[in-house]
Amino acid sequence: MRTTTAPGADHSRRESARRAGWCRLAATGALLAASAAAALGAAGAEPAASTWRVGVARRVITPTEPVWLAGYGTKRVPDGKLHDLWAKALAFEAADGGRAVLITSDFQGVPASMSDRVFARLAADHGLDRARVMFAYSHNHSSPRLGDDLLDYYPVDPAQEALVERYTAACVETCVGLVADALAALAPATVRVGAGRATFAVNRRDNPEAEVAGRVARGEPLRGVTDHTVPVLTVTRPDGQLDAILFGYACHPTTLASTTFCGDYPGFAQVALERSHPGTTALFVNTCGGDQNPLPRRSVALCERYGALLAAGVEEALQGALETVPGRLRTTFRMIDLAYERVVTAADLRTAADDANAIKARWGRRLLAKLEAGGSFAPAYPYPLHAWRLGDTLVIGMGGETVVDYALRFKRQWGPGTWVLGYTDDMAAYVPSRRVWEEGGYEGGAFLYEYGRPAFRWAGTVEDTVAGAVAELVDEVAAGPARGADGTR
Ligand SMILES: [Zn+2]
Repeated sequence: MRTTTAPGADHSRRESARRAGWCRLAATGALLAASAAAALGAAGAEPAASTWRVGVARRVITPTEPVWLAGYGTKRVPDGKLHDLWAKALAFEAADGGRAVLITSDFQGVPASMSDRVFARLAADHGLDRARVMFAYSHNHSSPRLGDDLLDYYPVDPAQEALVERYTAACVETCVGLVADALAALAPATVRVGAGRATFAVNRRDNPEAEVAGRVARGEPLRGVTDHTVPVLTVTRPDGQLDAILFGYACHPTTLASTTFCGDYPGFAQVALERSHPGTTALFVNTCGGDQNPLPRRSVALCERYGALLAAGVEEALQGALETVPGRLRTTFRMIDLAYERVVTAADLRTAADDANAIKARWGRRLLAKLEAGGSFAPAYPYPLHAWRLGDTLVIGMGGETVVDYALRFKRQWGPGTWVLGYTDDMAAYVPSRRVWEEGGYEGGAFLYEYGRPAFRWAGTVEDTVAGAVAELVDEVAAGPARGADGTR
């Protein structure tokens, strides 16, 4: 975590175009509609019958009050915005009746204490259980604090904490309303997938920031594993309108560390795509960028450039051979116990409370107070995992800051078209692979205190535990009708 235009006019146009399309179809009846679709196909628009109903929605989440910016372990008071922050949603309804909703957002980190409120409301209001809702956040470091995410990063300030809670509560309502909007907008669509590439993500464990520019200037290859794939999913209406582009990338949105709200490189990429495709909503998911940084960095010009490079990777996919996704949907979800190496003791916390590191000291004092009040700590963390299958496309969703090894492993196991999302549902902590855990350092070592966990490290079995559970979830969505987390079909 800590590491070294308003589209309204476009959307009005899209809505008008869609309404006009619907009036035309309603007036001519099903048979004529099929003929019309065939005629559009002949004219180069949408050629085939739609097999999905998809709803697209978006809402602004830029704070209107001075909520501090999130991440980097420092207090940052906002001074304005470069562009708005957004929460967006895609609701999918397959021909077989299965439904699922993906929320994407420009948030830095969504804590379980917030997403649980959204999930509970969506279950009550729409019958959407956890298997059917994935709540992704880009991990954008130019966005506001939320709830108790990274609570010990910031100086204790009751007025600010009240402001953060008020903003968080408003965002819960926004996300619930956003999903209602997406469900209400469900309409026939063709879903396609493909992939492009963007190469600005750098393995930050193997390439110290200060050395990257020199290495590049000397023509030396950068080191370490990366995942430069840009997975792309498109939603196209029967009239040919490209209504949504979902895309992903494995990299920290940490180009900027200023006090101005913006979406960092994913925000600039979304803005660029929405400009070049009027009427389209662009949605971003961070794949497994836990150990990847945009380097070099620290300027708005670089941030815009990375956004443009990522948008170019999306365009490459759009111009290539996109594969149509059959209208079948299966979803499953599980909370697993991710074991700590060792739960902290009161003695550990007393030592931490006197540490020169302000984050560790705040953590030590806070957790010690819990122990002294009679509390206790569980030996493991409840960690969320999703598997969705849209047609033949597998989408894996994982909580927290998953390192790139997970994406590479799962794509080896289940094919290069597999989407492997980190940063869903809960900003649990870094989730290292076995390799990264053995190497130690920031993403693999004794840093769980930064996330408020009652331990310094995960157990060394972390990758085995996660990968074993993911394999079982993938099996569950491999066959059979859509099934909810409660086992209902
Ligand atoms: Zn991070």
